[in-house]
Amino acid sequence: MRIEYDIKLGFKDVMFRPKRSTLKSRSQVDLDRTFKFMHTETLWTGVPIMAANMDTVGTFEMARALTERNLFTAVHKHYTPAEWTAFLKNAPEGIENHVAVSTGTGVEDFKKLIEIKDQNPQLKFICIDVANGYSEHFVSFLKRTREQFPDKVIMAGNVVTGEMVEELLLAGADLVKVGIGPGSVCTTRVKTGVGYPQLSAIIECADAAHGLGGQIISDGGCAIPGDVAKAFGAGADFVMLGGMLAGHDESGGEVVEQDGEKFKQFYGMSSSTAMDKHAGGVANYRASEGKTVQVPYRGDVESTLNDILGGLRSTCTYVGASTLKELTKRTTFIRVAEQENRVYTK
Ligand code: 5GP
Repeated sequence: MRIEYDIKLGFKDVMFRPKRSTLKSRSQVDLDRTFKFMHTETLWTGVPIMAANMDTVGTFEMARALTERNLFTAVHKHYTPAEWTAFLKNAPEGIENHVAVSTGTGVEDFKKLIEIKDQNPQLKFICIDVANGYSEHFVSFLKRTREQFPDKVIMAGNVVTGEMVEELLLAGADLVKVGIGPGSVCTTRVKTGVGYPQLSAIIECADAAHGLGGQIISDGGCAIPGDVAKAFGAGADFVMLGGMLAGHDESGGEVVEQDGEKFKQFYGMSSSTAMDKHAGGVANYRASEGKTVQVPYRGDVESTLNDILGGLRSTCTYVGASTLKELTKRTTFIRVAEQENRVYTK
């Protein structure tokens, strides 16, 4: 047994130190970024915030709404090839640049991925998602996917340490998804005791990825717009959101009413709700590692997006970054023992 005594930080442990700035208004801040990916010639320009591949977040409806604002959606893996084809027929022009097809690592998953791609060769992005990105099986699946799709952009994860980010990039990933345990409906840390505070995971993984010419996606743990800004400040290239985008018209599922208030169901993809729905129940050798919650119904996602993007622009003006790309260079975090004043919070 070994203990690492370096303290690892989460979003709640830091704040941005404000800096002198020549920016007059947050409207001067450019949130678009352009990325060239490690294994492909594809260039991508947009606001690097993405909806999580959860069936109560990363839906086709969410993809339409987010594409309109130049954001990205990792579409959940439970749509059939026929549904993908129908969606793309009626989808706005260029939407293929703003969506990823998600897949697990099973034999059936691979067949389905090939079918979706064969029917819709314009799709450019693949998201290979497993709870534990440290398994050899996952790395071999990634290598196979890279061989099968040499010209597609592959995102893969999840991991939280630099050496595994490097391994995944060298095995064929362009972007590595970073985060074990920070998710709002995740119970991995409760059930297993495994995890890594997200801010430190981003800092360490971004450093490893950028050294090789790859990128990272910070996945999970953002509860408020300030957390999204902190993820970018720490070095994330993309930030993936689940809970912050749940509960909207575009988030899938039904609105339910209780005591005059409206809610939507939101659940982890390893929760018993998800496993009952998609896998015929929780297999007896595993524990569910996700929660099922009711979140207040929030209407159209538009106002939430304004809140997130407005917050991010404002962060940039406080530290003097005229583009999102500059934010990390202009970031000094201070360690704190307090966050917001909660006197008037329920
Ligand atoms: P959030 O933005 O809600 O904090 O986190 C979203 C992320 O939580 C997802 O992108 C995914 O990585 C993770 N996640 C989703 N469902 C589950 C689950 O059932 N269990 C665990 N451990 N993580 C989950």
